[in-house]
Amino acid sequence: MRKVPFFEYSRLFSDNKYSLFEVLENVGVRGAYIMQQDLSNFERTLADYVGTQYAIGVANATDGLELAWAAVGLQKNDEVIMSAHTMLATASAVVTAGGVPIIVDIGDDGLIDPEAIDAAISPKTFGISPTQLNGRTCEMDKILNIANKNKLIVVEDAAQALGSSFKNKKAGSFGDVASFSFYPAKVLGSLGDGGGITTNRKDLFEVIFQLHDHGRDTSGEVKRWGRNSRLDNLQAAILNLGFKNYHLVIERRRKIASMYHERLSSLDQLILPPPPLVDTDHFDVYQNYELQAKDRDALRSHLAQNGIGTLVQWGGKAVHQWDDLGFNYRLPKAESFFEKCLMLPMNYFISDEDIEYVCEKIIEFYNNPK
Ligand SMILES: *Cc1c(COP(=O)(O)O)cnc(C)c1O
Repeated sequence: MRKVPFFEYSRLFSDNKYSLFEVLENVGVRGAYIMQQDLSNFERTLADYVGTQYAIGVANATDGLELAWAAVGLQKNDEVIMSAHTMLATASAVVTAGGVPIIVDIGDDGLIDPEAIDAAISPKTFGISPTQLNGRTCEMDKILNIANKNKLIVVEDAAQALGSSFKNKKAGSFGDVASFSFYPAKVLGSLGDGGGITTNRKDLFEVIFQLHDHGRDTSGEVKRWGRNSRLDNLQAAILNLGFKNYHLVIERRRKIASMYHERLSSLDQLILPPPPLVDTDHFDVYQNYELQAKDRDALRSHLAQNGIGTLVQWGGKAVHQWDDLGFNYRLPKAESFFEKCLMLPMNYFISDEDIEYVCEKIIEFYNNPK
């Protein structure tokens, strides 16, 4: 039986072994482990790629969000509006900074609904933290309008969206600050944890730089209390290698999304994510291929029985559905989404034959109801 794992972590290494050995040797012989040239090169590449003035490598995207909220001056009990369909990290970063996450409902594409943001504004609202989910950028024109009208800070959770854009502007270049993740399974993955923030604001660049390196500024002078949330120079060197072929990774992911769409769009038991090239406002990089499926759990076991790995995002719950975190409201669209959502294998490693096989097994499931 063919096996199509959801993601193969070992292939991040094995597909690229010799180039990675070279990177390790090159960094190792220089003893260049912390805040060295490879890191500053990566930061320059990231800022140029996203289209911002500044980028800082940080230990992971969650840290990036925490540093961002600390730097913009979030005060105790300030509210930050965010999507129900995001990683808990978007919310926990606000809580860590002393704020209160306000969770709102999603639109048809699973991303935050701008109208729901508007409806959630209160006198305590301090910011908006839109998640650029599944490699797709939110309708940032509407979100920035709301932010400007109400004088709100915008911190983008761009962990899943490197290279994605809306109206020709890339995710990570809209807000006051944005945070990217280089977790191994992300669109650009390192061999461990990694993250990066981007910003056009010099003041925020300076504060976040200090916060992430023990309060020291770029010349080593201590300016404030800080912490350590640096991106390892070795991970930065590995990411520099990954960046070289990143356009091919995006191309391949978009191709896979087109193939899924072509084979599956006739099934009315499924709601598929928007395919590439239909809506010229969005350029999606397909961090995930997340669809909504009738009889999701049965489909999922059918696929598992046939060697196909799938995943239900975030452990199967919207942010506000984690009861122990103290939320007590209902968000109908997000809740119905989480009863049906499923992610199909979507990564650089799977072949055309794998995708064909996945589609065949899905079609087989719906054509032979038990
Ligand atoms: C992965 C992810 C994060 C967290 O990234 P880390 O680098 O693991 O901290 C935050 N938000 C979203 C939307 C993510 O997908």
